[in-house]
Amino acid sequence: MAADQWLTQLQENGYRLTEARRIVVEAVEKSARALTPIEVYDIARKKYRALGLVTVYRTLEKLEELHLIQRVHQPLGCQAFISAGEGHQHLLLCQNCGQVAFFEGDDLDVLTESIAQKTGYQISEHWLQLFGLCANCRAD
Ligand SMILES: [Zn+2]
Ligand SMILES: [Zn+2]
Repeated sequence: MAADQWLTQLQENGYRLTEARRIVVEAVEKSARALTPIEVYDIARKKYRALGLVTVYRTLEKLEELHLIQRVHQPLGCQAFISAGEGHQHLLLCQNCGQVAFFEGDDLDVLTESIAQKTGYQISEHWLQLFGLCANCRAD
C-alpha cells in the first residue's frame, strides 16, 4: 500500500494532515526496516526540520490504530514499527539490521490442539514472530 493511501485513510478517520505528519507517514511507509519513533524522527527531520517528536508518536499511534503499521517485538521492548502485513501473515525480523519480511503459513494446528487439551483453554488466536539473520547479513 502506498503512502498516499495511508494519508487518505488517516484523513477519512478524522486526522488532519499537516506537512509534518505527511513526512512522518512517508518515512514509515517507505522503510523495509522496523523503525523506532526516534529513528522515524531522525529520518523525517531531514525533510522537515521543525518536526516535533510528539507529532511522530501521535502519527504512529494513529497508524497503528488503523492497522497500517504493526509493532515489532524485540527482546528489549516492542518500540519499533513496520508496515503491517496483509491478511494473516507472520513476521521475520533480522536481528542485525532490522530488515523485516513476512511469511504465510503456520502449521500450528496440532500444537494448538494439544495445548488446548492439556490446559483446558479454548485457543482463539496466536501471535508468531521469527528472529534471525537476513540474507544480506548472513553474507557479511
Ligand atoms: Zn539483516
Ligand atoms: Zn498464523
